[in-house]
Amino acid sequence: MKRRDKDKISMEEKISRLKEYISGSSNIVFFGGAGVSTESGIPDFRSTDGLFSTRYEYPPEIMLSHSFFMSRTSEFYRFYRDKMIYPGAKPNLAHTALAEIERMGKLKAIITQNIDGLHHIAGNTNIIELHGSVHRNFCMECSGPHALEFILQAEDIPRCLCGGIVKPDVVLYEEGLDDTALSDAVKFFANADMLIVGGTSLLVYPAAGLINYYTGDKLVVINKTETHIDQKANIAIYGSIGEVLHRACF
Ligand code: ZN
Repeated sequence: MKRRDKDKISMEEKISRLKEYISGSSNIVFFGGAGVSTESGIPDFRSTDGLFSTRYEYPPEIMLSHSFFMSRTSEFYRFYRDKMIYPGAKPNLAHTALAEIERMGKLKAIITQNIDGLHHIAGNTNIIELHGSVHRNFCMECSGPHALEFILQAEDIPRCLCGGIVKPDVVLYEEGLDDTALSDAVKFFANADMLIVGGTSLLVYPAAGLINYYTGDKLVVINKTETHIDQKANIAIYGSIGEVLHRACF
């Protein structure tokens, strides 16, 4: 048998096992990263062809840091509007499949490292955005909320009517994750009977360490490349997360 044929069969087998897992589970948690959104045209800024190779003077970890935001707000916003916001992006097959698993009453939570809000747009309701969302923005003086449109339309630094600077509710480098989001995520992981980890290389901590709270025996990893938990996974699938989830659900 040619290697390609063998791989093809084993992919089919993996997807049918994934289907069985989903139908036999009632408390599924999905943990996702940048790879879930790349199929919507949002680049992973940590990948080699992502934001690292841009024309900006500083690397993204500097430009997206708390101290850079505070000291060079105008430059921060130029970079942020240019590279971090994709207002035209639409949910892809991965998002719509996850919305379907929630409608089936099986998916209890999506825990994501993405800040694009695409899971909300796809119709999921229980979403923990560990790194925040570009759709939420608050005035640093009066805490007043501002829509993404407001950030996009501001000429330079977005300022509230009260004069305060508006800051995105996105976790910047040097900032900690929200305590409530973290403790809620831990509970979902601990109670899940199935965990699907998708589109993440599991290199960003503390988010990546959360999966250790899952103690069940249906751990599925779907990613383009290998991850360090593949050995622990009950099924590890290498491929397009949108295609894999879609085929497992419809
Ligand atoms: Zn204000």
